[in-house]
Amino acid sequence: MSTLLKMENIQYEVDRKTILAIPSFSIQQGEIIGIMGPNGAGKSTLLKLLSLLDSPSEGQIFLKETVLSGQKITIDMRRKFAIALQQSLLLHTSVYQNVALGLKIRKLPKASINEKVGYWLDKFNISHLAKKHAYHLSGGEAQRVNLARAMVLEPEVLFLDEPFSALDFPTKVELLKELKEILNITNTTTVFVSHDLLEIKYLTDRLAILMNGEIQQVGKTEDVIEHPNKMTAAFINQWKEFIQ
Ligand code: ADP
Ligand code: MG
Repeated sequence: MSTLLKMENIQYEVDRKTILAIPSFSIQQGEIIGIMGPNGAGKSTLLKLLSLLDSPSEGQIFLKETVLSGQKITIDMRRKFAIALQQSLLLHTSVYQNVALGLKIRKLPKASINEKVGYWLDKFNISHLAKKHAYHLSGGEAQRVNLARAMVLEPEVLFLDEPFSALDFPTKVELLKELKEILNITNTTTVFVSHDLLEIKYLTDRLAILMNGEIQQVGKTEDVIEHPNKMTAAFINQWKEFIQ
């Protein structure tokens, strides 16, 4: 595996308070990496930095060999990434239009937009909702639209910030299964933020545990869960009681 995204000597400060301090962190091509940690650990901030939605106070981010921070970040760079958040934040228009919008902005030909949107609506089992207004969707349906809207962009990296945490358990399980299959087929490099070890265990290849703005452990997901270190044991064992 080769390194796709890399952070070095990252500091992120707000009002002189350090929110993140990450000497080194990298994401491999094609992997699904989980970022897990308690509320307020800095997971969403880390995701924003990696996806170029925000810039670090110090340090550098690389996509392969190209430095992404410390210079003007171009639209072309941002377009390599797609992001889906817990709140799907859909526009007040049809499901079809919500999924098509990103491609329209990229000025793709209409026939190509039609084909791609049709493909991803089908993949997420929402073709029948194409004409429905996004306002009238259930939570699970809205999250399917949210994921289709991200995947239709064919991103080099997909960023997911707790996309399932507002869903009921059966909906979450169904969507997790479908997403896993889609990510495996497309081989999409994915950064998956969650505070739920069940989701992490099911979906991810590697896992980074973030606590108080620092990565305390990173490794193969099963190894981190089986062998937490001194810093992560209390957090991980709390979860393990429930899933074993
Ligand atoms: P998580 O996603 O792990 O719950 P966040 O990345 O949202 O954590 O936040 C990490 C910490 O940084 C929290 O204490 C949060 O209050 C703080 N924080 C994040 N962004 C800002 C900001 N723009 N201004 C002030 N505080 C912030
Ligand atoms: Mg968060």
